[in-house]
Amino acid sequence: MAQTYQHYIDGEWVTGHGTETFESENPATGESLGEFQQGTPADVNDAVGVADEAYEEWRKRSRIDRAEYLWDVYHELRDRTEELGEIVTKECGKEISEGRADVVEAAHMVEWAAGDARHPSGETVPSEIAAKDAYMRRKPRGVTGCITPWNFPIAIPYWHMAVALVEGNTVVWKPAEQTPWCAQIVAEMFDDAGVPPGVFNMVQGFGDTGAAIVDDDRVPTVLFTGSAEVGHRIADAVGAESGKRAACEMGGKNAVVITEEADLDIAVHSAVMSSFKTTGQRCVSSERLIVHTDVYDEFKERFVDAASKVAVGDPLQEDTFMGPLIEAEHKAKVTEYRDLAREEGVDVLVDRTELDADEIPDGHEDGHWVGPFVYEADPDADLRCTQEEVFGPHVALLEYDGDIERAVEIQNDTDYGLAGAIVSEDYRQINYYRDHAELGLAYGNLPCIGAEVQLPFGGVKKSGNGYPSAREIIEAVTDRTAWTLNNSKEIQMAQGLSADIITDG
Ligand code: ADP
Repeated sequence: MAQTYQHYIDGEWVTGHGTETFESENPATGESLGEFQQGTPADVNDAVGVADEAYEEWRKRSRIDRAEYLWDVYHELRDRTEELGEIVTKECGKEISEGRADVVEAAHMVEWAAGDARHPSGETVPSEIAAKDAYMRRKPRGVTGCITPWNFPIAIPYWHMAVALVEGNTVVWKPAEQTPWCAQIVAEMFDDAGVPPGVFNMVQGFGDTGAAIVDDDRVPTVLFTGSAEVGHRIADAVGAESGKRAACEMGGKNAVVITEEADLDIAVHSAVMSSFKTTGQRCVSSERLIVHTDVYDEFKERFVDAASKVAVGDPLQEDTFMGPLIEAEHKAKVTEYRDLAREEGVDVLVDRTELDADEIPDGHEDGHWVGPFVYEADPDADLRCTQEEVFGPHVALLEYDGDIERAVEIQNDTDYGLAGAIVSEDYRQINYYRDHAELGLAYGNLPCIGAEVQLPFGGVKKSGNGYPSAREIIEAVTDRTAWTLNNSKEIQMAQGLSADIITDG
């Protein structure tokens, strides 16, 4: 890649107003993957302007017509899954099966949105008055601002944009600064599909570019996936403006509960996947394992053994389980939390934060390598390391005694409420957990990762408001109109309200 890649505004590749560029880096090797134009608020201003203009024509089309463009994108995602999976892995460091799964998930979301165009939209609703027809109808809201993170660089952008476009909104997208190459390909796909100018726009850049989208009065809807810190800032800014809406999906301090009735094979398997897949960098990754005292010693031995051996390496190799962290700053943050945990006095069981030289693949010395960090902590101690999201392979074992109520109490002892799992063979324990764990995504006898697009995705409490997923996103990007039509020459009101005009004369 020798050229400087550009923004996509009004159906054109443009350099924009900025003079700065930034590089995409392969986190496994440190090598540059390409140079990209860095967006500015002036570029956002241009993109929002054309998206606003294109909106009037785009909304007039039928949903089915709008979805036709997405079918082209769908086929491209399917045809290029292998190639794009490798690019995802190169740019964000997820091992190759995760790279491919990212592209497949994107295809599923596009398929869902395009297929949904031929399904009923809105509802027919009864009225008390026989002569009245009542409906719930949906209208698009206008320009949708989409701000996405690096860890699902193909899938999450389509989560945001596919449904928004089918529903008749236009889009201004600010991809993550760590994965601009994936973003370039997503934009090329919309270009290949011939989406009309202005309907889809992309401005590459950093947080200030995202903030310019959020602040623009012509953007009524903001979809955000990323950190709680940024998400809450966006939600606060948007909440202060009447008519604006933000749908934010943020992080978690997720847990797997392993009861005394657990099948320990499932428990260990689920815990390893929940904690270490994507090197702990999923918003649903687990950083707490809440384990009953009766099975604690055996579970601990088996989990520690797995964490000590889990294969860290070149993410392009099929025999790698964990790739690198995304960037040097993140390696520093994960290391700081390791140090903090030690300062807070936890019992460290595995510390592979600094890998041995022979664990790092040849030619990958400049990658951001880290292995699992596992420790035991008291669930009642007020520790930052068991309360704050690290976003890495940083896991606390929390031993509990007592019944399922106690396990769920520990599970809920966090500001977050995104994902969690219970491992148990006892359906009463499972049902109690299902009904009382404060979560948006809950799993039984499974890892707490592994969303599918047709399920709701999102959290409660500090983790967000649960909108950015297939069906729910429709709520975020449309307004509902309750529409009532009178078929009679008389005006009749519900609830027995008099429709008589009473006069004195
Ligand atoms: P992560 O920790 O996963 O990188 P962030 O919340 O930092 O999550 O970033 C997610 C997305 O939000 C990225 O596209 C980033 O550039 C963008 N972003 C960061 N700061 C802001 C901000 N103040 N306003 C809007 N978008 C922002």
